[in-house]
Amino acid sequence: MREFDYRRAPDVTGAVALLAADPDARFLGGGTNLVDLMKAGVERPALLVDVRELPLDRIEPADDGGLRIGATVTNSDLAAHPEVRRRYPALTQAVLAGASGQLRNMATVGGNLLQRTRCGYFTDVAGPCNKRVPGSGCPAVGGEHHNHAVLGASDHCVAVHPSDMGVALTAFDAVVSYETVDGPGELPLADFYLPVGDTPHRETALPPGALITGVTLPPAPVAAHSRYRKVRERASYAFAIGSVAAALDVRDGVVREARLALGAVASRPWRARAAEAVLTGAPASGDTFAAAADAELAAARPLPDNGYKVTLMRNLVVAVLTELAEEAAR
Ligand SMILES: Cc1cc2nc3c(=O)[nH]c(=O)nc-3n(C[C@H](O)[C@H](O)[C@H](O)COP(=O)(O)OP(=O)(O)OC[C@H]3O[C@@H](n4cnc5c(N)ncnc54)[C@H](O)[C@@H]3O)c2cc1C
Ligand code: SF4
Repeated sequence: MREFDYRRAPDVTGAVALLAADPDARFLGGGTNLVDLMKAGVERPALLVDVRELPLDRIEPADDGGLRIGATVTNSDLAAHPEVRRRYPALTQAVLAGASGQLRNMATVGGNLLQRTRCGYFTDVAGPCNKRVPGSGCPAVGGEHHNHAVLGASDHCVAVHPSDMGVALTAFDAVVSYETVDGPGELPLADFYLPVGDTPHRETALPPGALITGVTLPPAPVAAHSRYRKVRERASYAFAIGSVAAALDVRDGVVREARLALGAVASRPWRARAAEAVLTGAPASGDTFAAAADAELAAARPLPDNGYKVTLMRNLVVAVLTELAEEAAR
């Protein structure tokens, strides 16, 4: 591991100034991903700027009636917050489906969105990987890829984004706020992650050195009727092989509004807009839910060993939407 300096960020302005002064510096949230990557030699920062003491640890009402979540709010505090549980239950469920209690006590909202892929080749510094070393190749395409992407990937990288939290935030149109030395900015989560293309090493549209300061959830009454469901290879403490965040407003047997996002299928949490278009205004029936899943998954391009994900996601989408519709009918 490379020797590095450690500084506690004095305030938001000081934090972004420290990063701007040193291109080899990194922000440190809970460290649950960054420190592991440093141990593996994937990340080799010269300076860690610890942001955990910044006053970004509150969850507050937003001006438009939504909820503003500070970037250093821990995963545990986010999941437990009464307004999150009441108004965006799929977000609580998504966070609690991730990692372990100890990790959630350390991990922050900002760090969760910026955690790196769990592709095994990415963390093996002895071999090639386009995401780690641009232009070196992607051994996963012809190698181990049973948990890799079926949507939105390219020949240059087929890795998936591992966040559970991000899937629920994507379904609810969250907006990321950030600060740079040039001032503050905002990015809807829909535009936050860049398409893979031939630059898989460029993962987000955040400006260099930007500090995530928070995430805002717009008001969304439909989100109160939401659910997160995660499929993994063992019952707990494992990343998803497929997940769904869904919200449904059903009245008189008709879907008035639907939100759907898929996890572990693409390089980013995947907003299922084609499925939402099928659902909206249609009868809340099994046929509609299957047609919605098929509409989204028509774009799937599975690799030889991950075609099972298409069937898995179809079944998962139908199951979660059916449960939500049954609840609405009670
Ligand atoms: C064993 C294990 C199992 C896990 N299982 C799951 C799981 O099932 N589901 C899941 O979603 N996650 C899982 N995780 C991942 C975990 O949730 C992430 O490691 C965590 O959310 C990252 O948050 P952090 O604050 O620790 O980030 P850090 O490790 O501190 O940072 C991660 C990245 O974000 C950057 N960063 C941190 N904060 C900011 C900020 N405010 N502004 C700009 N950049 C910032 C850092 O520089 C770094 O690049 C697991 C982790 C482990 C170790
Ligand atoms: S899938 Fe992406 S992260 Fe994995 S080896 Fe290929 S380029 Fe690297």
